[in-house]
Amino acid sequence: MHIQERVKNLQQQVTAAAHLANRNPDEILILAVSKTMPASKVEEAISCGFTAFGENKAQELLEKSSSIKQHVDWHFIGHLQTNKVRQIIDKVSLIHSLDRMSLAEEIQKQAQAIDIIVNVLAEINMAKEESKFGVAPENAERFLHSVSAYPNIRVKGLMTVAPFVKNPEENRKYFREMRNLLVDINSKNIDNISMDVLSMGMTNDYFQAIEEGATIVRIGTGVFGERQR
Ligand SMILES: *Cc1c(COP(=O)(O)O)cnc(C)c1O
Repeated sequence: MHIQERVKNLQQQVTAAAHLANRNPDEILILAVSKTMPASKVEEAISCGFTAFGENKAQELLEKSSSIKQHVDWHFIGHLQTNKVRQIIDKVSLIHSLDRMSLAEEIQKQAQAIDIIVNVLAEINMAKEESKFGVAPENAERFLHSVSAYPNIRVKGLMTVAPFVKNPEENRKYFREMRNLLVDINSKNIDNISMDVLSMGMTNDYFQAIEEGATIVRIGTGVFGERQR
């Protein structure tokens, strides 16, 4: 199947989920997760109208962002090692995976060195899975309070990777809790923190995520088909 065929169905579903929740579908970004896909597939997706791509490895992001000439937004969605920050920091429009103070410290240092502001999302481990990265929800406010002291970091919202489940309805509660967390933290009026981005939902559960308020859904398989590795 070509990307074009998958995308038609995807866009219909995104629109349907948005309408069910009385939301404007235009406020939802479909981030095409291009990890493991060759640059030629990204080009194909660009010709289908995608403008934002998600990668989870620094090296792969660097290679693809330099080989693709069209202007697109690159988002970093994977676990970010501190020693990779400098390489990607001026190539990405949003880092979804700020999950610890040592990473914030390094982003601040490198961003300051080249005088840029870096947009980030705080990654929250909503289901408290041992195997996952992310700040525990009960520590999120304290974490963001600390991050707010860094002038070259702008926290735009929250991101979560929900559990791998057969029935996506099982993840609805985590999406709902994350939206509540965002509203709650915004109400505290922390300096420098005013969040409106909720990055949640993947191919299996984006419908529920949109109903619960997602503003970015991260779709790999649903755009590109199954990954080989
Ligand atoms: C791979 C990946 C996705 C996309 O997964 P699909 O199930 O293929 O849509 C989304 N978010 C993150 C963080 C990923 O690593």
